[in-house]
Amino acid sequence: MKNKYLDVILDNDPILRAKNMEVELPLNKEDEELIMNMRKYVTDSIIEENQEKYGLKPAVGIAAPQVGVNKRMFVVRLEEVVDNDIIVKEYALVNPKIISHSEQMSFLKSGEGCLSVEDIHEGHVYRNARVTIQAYDAISKQDVTIRARGFLAIAMQHEYDHLEGILFYDRIDKDDPFKVLENAKEI
Ligand SMILES: [Zn+2]
Repeated sequence: MKNKYLDVILDNDPILRAKNMEVELPLNKEDEELIMNMRKYVTDSIIEENQEKYGLKPAVGIAAPQVGVNKRMFVVRLEEVVDNDIIVKEYALVNPKIISHSEQMSFLKSGEGCLSVEDIHEGHVYRNARVTIQAYDAISKQDVTIRARGFLAIAMQHEYDHLEGILFYDRIDKDDPFKVLENAKEI
């Protein structure tokens, strides 16, 4: 039986390094279907049963080039616990633009991972601590301005990098992977 989920390509595939094109709006049927399937992958990927049954890897986000389509779209979904409530933040962004960012940087203590990267790449991936992103959001079906900080800001920049053909380990200092940046907050 064919896997009902999108196939994710790995970092040896030149598609991940190719130029990604702007998407025409309003979304045509094909693009709409693609981004909703990307959303489905991310949403379902955190359920253990799906990981075993369909070989999904738990994901916070996915970008169109990772499923073999060189278009400027990505999905980010994360759950935050606020006062014992689980808040789901979910975006399916088309033609995202980072319009401003903080000078302060941040990084994940545990390092970053990626659906398209199977090898281990240890080291600090420094990113802007806060970013403001404008895009069309295919979930709320409107133009949005997102002010992201913390883990969300990191996830957004990781996915945005995919649209620029950049992988997280490109940002790790080869000579000094755990180099300490003074202006950077650990998350
Ligand atoms: Zn990735």
